[in-house]
Amino acid sequence: AKNDGGKKVRAFEPFMHEDFLMHRQIESGLQEALANDEFTLLFQPIVDLETGKTRSCEALLRWKHPELGDVSPAVFIPVAESAGLIGDITEWVLRKACEAAAGWPEDVNVSVNISPALLKQTNLPVTIIETLVNTGMVARRLELEITESVLLDKSPHTNSLLRQLQKMGLRLCLDDFGTGFSSLTYLRSWEFDTIKIDKSFIRNIANSPTDQKIIGAVVQLAKSLQVATVAEGVETEEQLDRVRDAGCSRVQGYYYARPMSAEQASHRLASEAVP
Ligand code: C2E
Ligand code: CA
Ligand code: CA
Ligand code: CA
Repeated sequence: AKNDGGKKVRAFEPFMHEDFLMHRQIESGLQEALANDEFTLLFQPIVDLETGKTRSCEALLRWKHPELGDVSPAVFIPVAESAGLIGDITEWVLRKACEAAAGWPEDVNVSVNISPALLKQTNLPVTIIETLVNTGMVARRLELEITESVLLDKSPHTNSLLRQLQKMGLRLCLDDFGTGFSSLTYLRSWEFDTIKIDKSFIRNIANSPTDQKIIGAVVQLAKSLQVATVAEGVETEEQLDRVRDAGCSRVQGYYYARPMSAEQASHRLASEAVP
């Protein structure tokens, strides 16, 4: 048995080593990425089902590493968090997002993802106020998307930070709804304006009566609390129909649009604004 165990460890060693090197390469690459202008911000429309118009655009970060090429944010954001680089990156994202949104029609918001790590820092509200002032954006058009699992940390600090952000007029969106453990508690404790139903629930909605029922129930609950619902990851007309049947108010996904450049987004929004 001892021998087997040893073999297993050796068998995995090369991969673990590669992962480790990759992590190091990403980490050191991230340190230069801002200075070397390697990030791009894309925007994906979130469409209001009642009006058929874009209600907000979610800012999604892209990074082209000089050697690794495109690295997914699902890979580099956690590295940025653990390396203490997420604050500077988020500052850049907020600035780019607000600069873009300042030129959009006034009824279109911009949604920015906020890392868990940042809710533990006190300077987030200051960064946001400075960004709003410098870009001429109004607070009520900025939505912060906060992942459900973050809030598992129900510390008094997180609590007062969220309230402070709300008092500033920002809108809060509970992201990845349904993937955490205490979704319902969060809804009760904080006044979220929106919840975003995770795309894992949307994926099978056309074939799964159970997922349809879950989404229907979540939407009803949200309505009773006057919280808007976004269905994320809607790719097909069938999924759209089911989500609409469930009473969902907004939709985001490839069916309507993939994430696009700031330039493309502003063209699209301008053409929607024409009566
Ligand atoms: P998320 O916040 O859940 O963002 C939604 C993800 O779903 C995005 O992936 C988006 O491109 C993708 N998506 C949108 N519509 C569809 C669809 O119809 N089908 C499928 N299969 N996917 C769809 P992306 O851009 O790769 O981002 C991955 C995650 O990285 C995000 O998940 C978010 O957690 C994180 N992220 C991205 N940009 C930022 C950022 O600026 N700051 C922080 N803190 N996190 C970010
Ligand atoms: Ca998000
Ligand atoms: Ca999500
Ligand atoms: Ca997510």
